Amino acid sequence: MTTVKKNDRARRRPVVVPMRPLSPQSPQSEGLPLPDRLIITIDGPAGTGKSTVARALAHRLGLDFLDTGAMYRAAAAIAIDAALDIHDHDQLVNEIERRDLHFDFDADPPTLLCCGESIMHRLRDDDVTRLVSPIAAIDRLRQEMVRKQRQIGVQHPRLVTEGRDQGSVVFPDADVKFFLYASPRVRAQRRAKDEHAKGLPVDLDALEQAISDRDHRDSTRTVAPLTCPADAERIDTSNMSFDQVVDALEAHVTRVLGSRKAPRPAHRARNPALGSAGGTGSA
Ligand code: C5P
Repeated sequence: MTTVKKNDRARRRPVVVPMRPLSPQSPQSEGLPLPDRLIITIDGPAGTGKSTVARALAHRLGLDFLDTGAMYRAAAAIAIDAALDIHDHDQLVNEIERRDLHFDFDADPPTLLCCGESIMHRLRDDDVTRLVSPIAAIDRLRQEMVRKQRQIGVQHPRLVTEGRDQGSVVFPDADVKFFLYASPRVRAQRRAKDEHAKGLPVDLDALEQAISDRDHRDSTRTVAPLTCPADAERIDTSNMSFDQVVDALEAHVTRVLGSRKAPRPAHRARNPALGSAGGTGSA
């Protein structure tokens, strides 16, 4: 019998991944009819917990989840491990392309594969975190990542995607957009708690400084800087628990989808017998 290894399976899978059964798992969104296409973007600075929140929201709503930071982190890891010159953008982008970065969406959370092997173990390493911002500022690399992310949006049209530019650049027509933020001190404290739990030494001031530096680089770069899209729901998570944040996001999505179901008042207005005092019809 031929054994198909998981990575082989991922390589051979057809491009369009079968949709997971939609099973809303919380009372808020239970019974909510989900449209065929539902793109939810979550952007925000480092350390706001976007990844875990996005994944939890996707889980509750029965959507797929995309961590775009992982893609830039993988690019940084490749650059470090292959000792690439990060100033030689052509070589860098070609090498990253050659590694065939893609997600295995059968895993939860989706596993990022590099040459068919998981690269997840490298993504949170300190050297990768230090290099990722300069790498993510490379225009040619971003174009490639944006292309891949849009392709994922076509293959997984019910998606919660998080990053820095998802609502502003990659999916400007997303159905629901969020922007999460918190003070640098609070974000540093959250990181410190994680580090502490791992038994690592913690320097809160250094963590806060590193977070502020990354925010600064991400929001001042010329290509696709971190920004809050004008039509995004801004959420200050400084004084909120993880569950409160996920609840707030889910409630907002439920409201948006619920308002789409509302009958269109313009229909009445068009009937001369009812006069012209109807609404705009923009449900
Ligand atoms: O979200 P995460 O901290 O994993 O992102 C790592 C880095 O990747 C960010 O600091 C940013 O430089 C870059 N990034 C980006 N655009 C995205 C996602 C991440 O530039 N959509």
